[in-house]
Amino acid sequence: MSFLPENIEILIKKVLQSEKIVILSHKSPDGDSLGSSLALFNFLKKLNLNSVICHPDKAPYFYRWLDDIDDILVYEDDLEKVTNEILHADLIFCLDFNAFDRLGDEFGKMVENSKAEKVLIDHHQNPSIKATYNIWDNRRASTSELIFEFIDQSNNIHLLDEQIAQYLYLGIMTDTGSFRFQSVTSRTHETICELLKTGMNHTQIHENMYDSNTLDRIKLKSYAIVEKLEILGDVPIGIITLSKSELRKFNYQKGDTEGLVNMILSIDKIKIAAIFIENDEGVKISFRSKEKFFVNELAHKYFNGGGHKYAAGGFSNNSIEKVVEMFKEIVSSGFYD
Ligand code: 5GP
Ligand code: MN
Repeated sequence: MSFLPENIEILIKKVLQSEKIVILSHKSPDGDSLGSSLALFNFLKKLNLNSVICHPDKAPYFYRWLDDIDDILVYEDDLEKVTNEILHADLIFCLDFNAFDRLGDEFGKMVENSKAEKVLIDHHQNPSIKATYNIWDNRRASTSELIFEFIDQSNNIHLLDEQIAQYLYLGIMTDTGSFRFQSVTSRTHETICELLKTGMNHTQIHENMYDSNTLDRIKLKSYAIVEKLEILGDVPIGIITLSKSELRKFNYQKGDTEGLVNMILSIDKIKIAAIFIENDEGVKISFRSKEKFFVNELAHKYFNGGGHKYAAGGFSNNSIEKVVEMFKEIVSSGFYD
């Protein structure tokens, strides 16, 4: 990982000279992709630089409280506008993803082929993105921490305000499971310490994210646990599958199943958890695990995905029945022996 101050100096010089800066992050926005994008956007504003954030798809409804959420352009909703931004960009920030296909195939290819110079700021393993500038470290718990580092090491810490701090806090909080994952280090807390010094309201962020629910969301999660949880094998593995018609019954909105896979993993003795969610394009899969059981390899090898050792995901165009059958076959034929 290269994180030398002189690299940062070259990068900040390039940033200051750029006329059209685009900030990108991965499909299925989460707290870190949104937090890092919005923090960088506001930091650039403080440097008197205009930038645009382009995300492949819209953030779930429970991120509506974010102040600048409406400034994010969404490729899925505004194909022409986003294409135009990419076409005219001279600098593209790639935040919180390690491969172009994390933007979706079509959007990913467009970005890969763009002539703009790229800056990768990310913490996922094995990045395949060829960027001119790299702020990459898979030992860091979140991309938001790396954005803080960028602000700090470019001698701009005085520009860190409550708003930027709030976005970075969101990213770090969500990617660390509220500061409890293995990935948390003393440095994570040192960063949080600097964020709190701005006077930002951290309680409000926790409340917005974890203490507010729709009734449908609670009912869907309850149904999933009571009616749909299956325990497999000796490991043991807990899985839940939800079809489109089941989701419809609970007026499903994107993001409603978030946290469900972690709930499965929290059950006594369970070491691996998976959820299979059917949508119009196919099946989205989320994996979580603990101890010696890693899920990134499984996601990569069989489900067109990847991720971290203990949190990974993938996607399949097959039917939900077929995908689940495949998963069961893989684990029963000794993948984790
Ligand atoms: P989640 O289960 O929350 O959607 O994703 C957990 C982690 O798995 C993400 O942080 C990301 O690193 C990874 N991940 C999820 N879906 C995909 C995917 O389709 N492809 C790849 N490469 N990684 C994914
Ligand atoms: Mn992240």
